[in-house]
This record gives sequence, structure tokens and C-alpha cells, in this order.
Amino acid sequence: MKELTPITVACGDGIGPEIMAATLAVLDAAGARIKPEFIEIGQSQYLAGHSSGISPDAWDSLRRTKVFLKAPITTPQGGGFKSLNVTIRKTLGLYANIRPCVSYAPFVPTLHPDMNIVIVRENEEDLYAGIEHRQTDDVYQCLKLITRPGCERIVRYAFEYAQSHGRKHVTCMTKDNIMKMTDGLFHKVFDEMAHEYPAISTDHMIIDIGAARLATRPNRFDVIVTPNLYGDIISDIAAELTGSVGLAPSANIGDQCAMFEAIHGSAPDIAGQGIANPSGLLLAAVLMLVHIGQPAVAESIHNAWLCAIEQGVHSAELHQQTSHLAAVGTQAFAQAVIDRLGHVPSHFMPVTYTSNEREETNDSHTSTIDKGNERKTVAAKTVKADKQMVGVDVFVHAPNVTADFLAGQLSALTTNAFALQMITNRGVKVWPGGFGETFCTDHWRCRFAAPNNQLINHADIIGLLQALTTRGIDVIKTENLCTFNGERGFALGQGQ
Ligand code: NAD
Repeated sequence: MKELTPITVACGDGIGPEIMAATLAVLDAAGARIKPEFIEIGQSQYLAGHSSGISPDAWDSLRRTKVFLKAPITTPQGGGFKSLNVTIRKTLGLYANIRPCVSYAPFVPTLHPDMNIVIVRENEEDLYAGIEHRQTDDVYQCLKLITRPGCERIVRYAFEYAQSHGRKHVTCMTKDNIMKMTDGLFHKVFDEMAHEYPAISTDHMIIDIGAARLATRPNRFDVIVTPNLYGDIISDIAAELTGSVGLAPSANIGDQCAMFEAIHGSAPDIAGQGIANPSGLLLAAVLMLVHIGQPAVAESIHNAWLCAIEQGVHSAELHQQTSHLAAVGTQAFAQAVIDRLGHVPSHFMPVTYTSNEREETNDSHTSTIDKGNERKTVAAKTVKADKQMVGVDVFVHAPNVTADFLAGQLSALTTNAFALQMITNRGVKVWPGGFGETFCTDHWRCRFAAPNNQLINHADIIGLLQALTTRGIDVIKTENLCTFNGERGFALGQGQ
């Protein structure tokens, strides 16, 4: 008798307990070798005073089992509550969010019957760092952080995923025509790594046209890799295009832990009625079984599920008037899947999960793909560049002034170390040579650089800040301007 794999299970809020009960019933009937540990998350925990919706005990279980099957939760409205999903993803280092989006036409109506794509979304960085500040009366800031190791891990994951799942093409989507440094890095890492996978073709699309093409011609895509925010948006679009948000699973994978869930929320509008579709969570559990090394069980459930769908066993939101069968409830749908265990679909291509996966061992928390990824990502080391400071951007809160007035005040501070080089407002150069048409707020970025390209140091910046403060200038923050191995590490002002 093989050992049971401990997994952490949360039943969540709204329809969560109903779809989790249905999912666990199928797993049990299919012979999944799992030992669930139940934890409470969501509304009850928020109300108990845990601002992230999860208690310290629950963390103990997650860190012990390293595998989390999670039902949706209801996020309370209002300030003071942190997103549970973002907290879990970042705390457990779940850097890759994998979302397969597949059409089930003609049984689930969709405009795109041939769609079969996988979105690999970076899951920890970008604007989701949650570093936000109100800086002036008018201006709020959210920091976008993109790191080289973060890009390398997710891009590597996408290529390894494509390779091990027999997929042929990987598309990278960024907005590097505008964000040349942050998104530019993501694109650059993608281009660098593509050379290591000659059997996989690649392309890059700017996210706006990429999202448009995804909506109109999804069958031109195979695997898409993209930073966090774009991935969040396009993966919902893609799931919706397949016909129902109730069908899509997602896997959140890290080097040590993984979380599996449906993409939809807690659906409070239908909670308690026994009509929710458990498919998203059930297919997430299939991904989990592959991950913990039980591909045969995963395959049997997935094929039974495909049989149910193609035989017209549909929950209420998928049910079509033309169907000769009545819509089924949550538990009846689960029973229909159980009844079809051991069967393979006749219309859909049967799923196989055996080729790249391995049988369960005592250390079965990483799939073959994850192991490949682990090996390569751990090797990534920071290469320290020759960093030299050549100037500083001083951000200033100054309401009801003109750029010329501010420049007059700041130019008077010119020293041997610094001269005012440029002022921008919302990134657009407004001094020297600004346009009267440019709309200005109370938030100014004032760029100081050393004359004659001299280097500067932190003491020079402190001296500058003292001089600014003495003149009553309200400094919000500074950003050092550095070169790295002689390459400029900062963007020019728009119009500079
Ligand atoms: P939702 O996904 O819960 O519901 C959107 C619509 O889809 C509703 O009409 C709902 O009835 C329907 N729907 C969703 N899942 C379904 C299913 N399995 N079967 C049949 N119909 C289904 O989105 P929402 O209403 O915007 O959010 C409700 C709550 O869920 C909010 O508190 C939100 O913050 C939370 N939420 C949680 C997660 C998560 O825990 N991962 C994700 C998204 C939203």
C-alpha cells in the first residue's frame, strides 16, 4: 500500500464548501492517495482579526504539507484587509501561475472552438508588490518591481512547461515599448533563454495587441508567458473565452510549495443552492495530483470529467435549452464523474498524464517539470556590476507653481557636485523648454547631475537635501541615478 500524501485543504466561503465536498468525493472514489488536513481561511478568519484571512495554525499546515487545495473565499470590502491570495502566493514563493484555457465545443458554447492555450503568469512581482504611497495632495504612486531572477524563473518555467507538455510555441507579452527597463528586462530574458530551446518557436507581442489577438484569434497561441498584471487580466479573458469561468483551474507553483484552485470566486449569488459547477476546482485537483506524482489518478478523473461534459451532464450555468438532459446540481455532477471513472471520452481526445510524470515517492511534492525548474533556478546567481552614481532625481511636492519658477529656485542651489539638469511632471519634461500645453500637478521630479559627468556620492546627496530643506522645499523622495558597467540605469525624461 503506497503512502498517503498529506495535503492542506480549505473549503473557503460561499460555494466553496459545496464544490470542495464534490471534488473530494471524486478524488476519494478515484483512489487518490491523499491525506487532507483541513484549515479555515477567508471570512471567518478576517472577522477573527487575522488581517490576511489566515491564522498562524493554518500556516503550520501549509508549511508542513507544501500542497494546498483551496476553494474560493469571499474578500471583505473596505480597507484594512489584505488579499489572502497575494499573501499566500508571496509568502510561500509561488512564483508561477499556470492557467490552462481549453474550449469544450460543441458541448460548451464558445466563439473559439479550437482554443487550447496555457498562460504562464509571473505571480509575485510587478505592481503586485503592494508598495503604494500618497506623495502629494494630487499624486499617488504604486511601485512596479521587476527583477532579473524573477524574470528568469518564470520564463524558464514557461519553456520547461512547453517542452515537457509537447507544446511548440511560446509567446511573450510585455509593454516594453513604454516600460523599457522593467518590461524590457522581461523581454530581454525571454530572448536570451529562447536560444536554449531551439525546438520551441517564439515570438513577442506588445500586450495590447496581444490581448486583442487573444480575444479574436486564440488558436494562434500555445503557451503565453507574461508579467503579473497582464497575466492576471489576459488569463481571465482567456478563461471566459472558453465558455465559462466555472471551468478553469489554476496552479500556483513555487520551488517548495504549490497551491491549486479554481479561478472563479465564492459566487455568493448562488451559494447554498447546490447548483455551482465544481469543475474548476476538480480540474485544479487534477493538476495537483499530477504535481504530487499521481498521474494515473489525475488521468482517470480528467477523462471521466470529459465524458460527463460530452454526454451533456452540465451544471446550471452551462446548461443549454437544446439539451435533452436536465441541468444537474453540484453533487449530482460529481456523481456523474464518479460513474464514468475508468471511461475515456469519444469526442474529446483522451488526456494522458503518464509520459512526463513519475510515480509517487515519499518525496513527491515536485513534478518532473518543477524539478527541472528547481535545478535551473537555484543556480541563478546575482552578478555584481560596476555601479557608479552620476546624479539624483529629487521628487518635490510643490503646489501652484510653474516649472520655470521651481527651476529658478533649484538652479540657485548649483554646486560643484550638482546642477539642475531637468524637471519633469508626471514623467514629461517641463524644464528646460517646456510647453504651455502640458498639464502639471503638484508633483515634480527634479534631476540633478554632476557637471562634467563627475561621479557623486551619498554625502553629496545629503548636502543637496539639506540645502533644499533649508529653502523650504518639500522633498518627497529621491532616486539615485546610477550606471551599471557603464550602462545607464535610469530612463530619460519624456521629451528629454
Ligand atoms: P465570482 O467568480 O464569485 O462570480 C462571478 C459570476 O460567476 C457569478 O454570477 C457566479 O454565480 C458565477 N460563478 C462563479 N463560479 C461559478 C461556479 N463554480 N458555478 C457556477 N457559476 C459560477 O466573482 P465575484 O462575484 O466577482 O466575487 C465573489 C467573491 O469572490 C468576492 O468576495 C471576491 O473577492 C471573491 N473572489 C475570490 C477568489 C479566490 O478566492 N480565488 C477569486 C475571485 C473572487
